[in-house]
Amino acid sequence: MATPIFPFPATSYALTSAGAAAHRIGGNFRDAASGAVREVENPRHGAAMGSVAWGDAADVEAAVAAARAAFPGWRDTPPKARAQILHRWRVLLEAHTDELAWLASHENGKIVSEARASVEKGIECLEFAVAVPNAQNGGVMEVSRGISCEVRQEPLGVVAGVVPFNFPAMVPMWMVPLALAAGNAFILKPSEKVPFTALRMAQLAEEAGLPAGVLQVVQGGQPVVEALCDHPEIRALAFVGSTRVAKLVYSRTTALGKRCLALGGAKNHLVVVPDADPEMTATNVVASSMGSAGQRCMAASVMVAVGDVQHIVDLTVAKARAIRMGEDIGTIIDAEAVTRIERFIEDAVQRGAKLLLDGRGQRPDGSGGYWVGPTILDDVTADMPAGCDEIFGPVLSIIRARTLDQAIAIENDNAYGNAAAIYTSNGGTAEYAIARFSAGMCGVNIGVPVPREPFAFGGWNDSRIGHGDITGADGYRFWSQARKVTTKWALQKDATWMS
Ligand code: NAD
Repeated sequence: MATPIFPFPATSYALTSAGAAAHRIGGNFRDAASGAVREVENPRHGAAMGSVAWGDAADVEAAVAAARAAFPGWRDTPPKARAQILHRWRVLLEAHTDELAWLASHENGKIVSEARASVEKGIECLEFAVAVPNAQNGGVMEVSRGISCEVRQEPLGVVAGVVPFNFPAMVPMWMVPLALAAGNAFILKPSEKVPFTALRMAQLAEEAGLPAGVLQVVQGGQPVVEALCDHPEIRALAFVGSTRVAKLVYSRTTALGKRCLALGGAKNHLVVVPDADPEMTATNVVASSMGSAGQRCMAASVMVAVGDVQHIVDLTVAKARAIRMGEDIGTIIDAEAVTRIERFIEDAVQRGAKLLLDGRGQRPDGSGGYWVGPTILDDVTADMPAGCDEIFGPVLSIIRARTLDQAIAIENDNAYGNAAAIYTSNGGTAEYAIARFSAGMCGVNIGVPVPREPFAFGGWNDSRIGHGDITGADGYRFWSQARKVTTKWALQKDATWMS
């Protein structure tokens, strides 16, 4: 039986083995039932750092059996006792933040400071979940004389989550803490490209006292996801990833009458008007478009430049050019993604876009791995692939507009709707744009307008298939069901149910 090397020993970017990302089922590491494994690469080196179990329906079946066995005990654990275990998990995650950050950095390729911030954001989601049963439960009222109505949030049972490669620590934490706080048994399917961080976090949850089988990890790709969608005992499934797969997963689960919330890809627009503060805007646009090498669903990928903002464009290019690869931004996830990103750039140039900054072929001196440097394309139009499709790399497309209304129309016409932002020093302009953007998360002078707890995360349109946000109160509701209880004890000769 091959196991992971935990605690992960790396404290630098040097290639370090993490062993085998096995499943975590019923409190034990397990190989895939078929014995299949795939290689996991460290994208900074373009070399193997370990392997991942390649699961299938048999492994999902085993996890469901363990979850079924664990669920009644966890459901019957009082919410406050559940919260205490989650709190101990939080303490352990905090103590292991550096280890988790290095692990996420190694498997994902992002720089360690970005990885650390993502672990911290994950912990913030957990903090919210620890408190949520206190805030969300209750609600009892005498509705008629001697008759009370009460609502109780109860768990669904065995539930599942499927997550992408770009935030190995944070995205699982959008789902797992709320689902556990609600009393469910959770099966997590990490991206096969980054299977280690979530596995380590699940192991720490057990160390914190979470009973075996309450949080399990089944590794693999499409076969595992399909088995999770299809399994009759899995009551709800949350998905985060590309829109194409989000739509597949959503239709497959909901066709079986299950709950599903599937977050998809994005094309986020930052609208810059002439009264924007140049320094703040350029700094922010660069951080948003180039941070995490553009592999963020909240990355600004389009700057809509309204009127004469050439001075801001020039400053943006200068700041992007100053980015040190490998120190300020990390790698692209794999070779295939590099090819895809470079194809977008080439295509835009062929269609007449101007290359203000070309990151193709750039990499830190002497390094292997998968890199694309900061790239800025000007005179992009909304009908070019670089102007409307998700590139998911460090590429900023500038679309020129004459008026704010034109800029808003460009944003509105895009199929996605995760985030949009306006850069201005005028409150009226900001309000005008925010009220008209077709996006779930809007920013004023903020390029990555991720709401912080207790405010919830969730886009609109093709960035979110299903209903509600994934975090916050909506997340808790997604993982629970409301039982309404109407009670009468006293005999009421003179009263009816409606009196
Ligand atoms: P992806 O859609 O390729 O994979 C996501 C998950 O689905 C993985 O666990 C993968 O194993 C599984 N999967 C892949 N193909 C599948 C298939 N055909 N059938 C069933 N399951 C399948 O996404 P990714 O490349 O890992 O992540 C990047 C994408 O995620 C981007 O589009 C990004 O915008 C999006 N994302 C969105 C949000 C959000 O909040 N909206 C957050 C993070 C990432």
